[in-house]
Amino acid sequence: DAPAAAPVLGTRWEHGFAALGPAFFTDLRPTPLPAPYLVSRNAALARSLGLDPARLESAEAVTALTGNSVPEGSRPLASVYSGHQFGVWAGQLGDGRAILLGGIETPLGVQELQLKGSGLTPYSRMGDGRAVLRSSIREYLGSEAMHGLGVPTTRALMVTGSDQPVRREEVETAAVVTRVAPSFVRFGHFEHFSARERYDELRQLADYVIDKFYPECRATEKFTGNAYATFLEQVSERTAAMVAQWQATGFCHGVMNTDNMSILGLTIDYGPFQFLDAFDPNHICNHSDDAGRYAYNRQPNVAYWNLFCLGQALLPLIGEQELALAALESYKTVFPRELEARMRAKLGLADEQPGDRELIEGVLKLLAAGRVDYPIFWRRLSHFVGGAGVDSLRDLFLDRQGFDGWLRLYEARLPADRHAAAVAMLSINPKYVLRNHLCELAIRQAKLKDYSGVETLLRLVQSPFDEHPGDEDKAGFPPDWAAHIEISCSS
Ligand code: AMP
Ligand code: MG
Ligand code: MG
Repeated sequence: DAPAAAPVLGTRWEHGFAALGPAFFTDLRPTPLPAPYLVSRNAALARSLGLDPARLESAEAVTALTGNSVPEGSRPLASVYSGHQFGVWAGQLGDGRAILLGGIETPLGVQELQLKGSGLTPYSRMGDGRAVLRSSIREYLGSEAMHGLGVPTTRALMVTGSDQPVRREEVETAAVVTRVAPSFVRFGHFEHFSARERYDELRQLADYVIDKFYPECRATEKFTGNAYATFLEQVSERTAAMVAQWQATGFCHGVMNTDNMSILGLTIDYGPFQFLDAFDPNHICNHSDDAGRYAYNRQPNVAYWNLFCLGQALLPLIGEQELALAALESYKTVFPRELEARMRAKLGLADEQPGDRELIEGVLKLLAAGRVDYPIFWRRLSHFVGGAGVDSLRDLFLDRQGFDGWLRLYEARLPADRHAAAVAMLSINPKYVLRNHLCELAIRQAKLKDYSGVETLLRLVQSPFDEHPGDEDKAGFPPDWAAHIEISCSS
């Protein structure tokens, strides 16, 4: 029998980040919220962490994961970082509304738990330390949707709420998301110590991240004498692979500031993010991003720009500028290679052949010209390859002749075994995508304390390639009002 008194998050805590020492964080407890309640818990993630999903519904868990009690063995802290926001050096930022509880040992290795929205910290600046229910549900579902699509991301275990009012454009209510990741270290953590010329701490942080997450850098150190250049190269490659997946998936992050870039190449800090409906390469999902710095098609360049900032921050450790620049170069080969591989997979093309790039560019051009619904196109194309008629696919396009021309080339290129190609395509082109309007409807319900919409979306986005016959209404085109949803940084 499991001992009934075992703490809900277990007893095996690990405090690798805290061991870095006080220069990296401030110890502090979360600020309690009045009468917290469960909004949703992620049973699938709980199970993979070795936690009991049923116990996450207990008052003990709700209390602990709202920050109203400090779990035994945890060591709550807020970390300090800096960063470039919208291309401008912003100086010190830090966990303004997040508190790290520490790491727990799980079947997935050590995973850190962080409470987002858990009250003021020394890094809150003008903020209130809180997150609203709306944005917490978006982060919870958004990160699970990315995970369901196979994109590297932080995850979310739970959302709790409280009726405590929180002022944004209007008065909303507070919520706390429990985020889960092997580490929440950002590019901005490195920028922080580098900008202050605190190179001992910079080296300490780099050594910590390398030893824990990039141990292969130590092997090359023997040949190059420099683990840090290899580290930059590895981070560039992981970031390139992640952004390639964003682009193929039609994911817009919305706030790609360097403090929102994970050193592990995970999608992190879900704010005004959006999965594209109609394919518009210039789409801006962040209502406050007037210049479109973080528009969908600019994400690959911005990621490189951010890596350049990281490279600059690491320069005191790398030593020679040429080494740093060479490490960054890998982004320029890995990103296009990864993107092409992802797009080929979406097209059901298992191998690489000359002309593939033209095929990919050709279809994207047609999709953009017709503002074609991105997920629906890929799903219909998959069914077409599997033997369905062409009409529902062709009807998506304005330029039918252009489409027919492209389709001829595509069919000539398809493998002989179209059935196998279709099966592969249906497991990479999702039927269910966390579109903004779906999120919005679930949030409206949740504000009335009906969380069934959140549960439904969680279930759908966790297996987005399955048919889910009872939920067809969530697989269709967005309604007209979806185009008018405005989501800004304020969350
Ligand atoms: P973001 O770009 O939203 O990830 O946040 C940028 C910075 O602002 C980070 O230091 C956050 O911790 C901080 N921040 C955002 N919202 C709040 C808030 N409501 N209260 C305190 N700090 C916040
Ligand atoms: Mg952030
Ligand atoms: Mg944030």
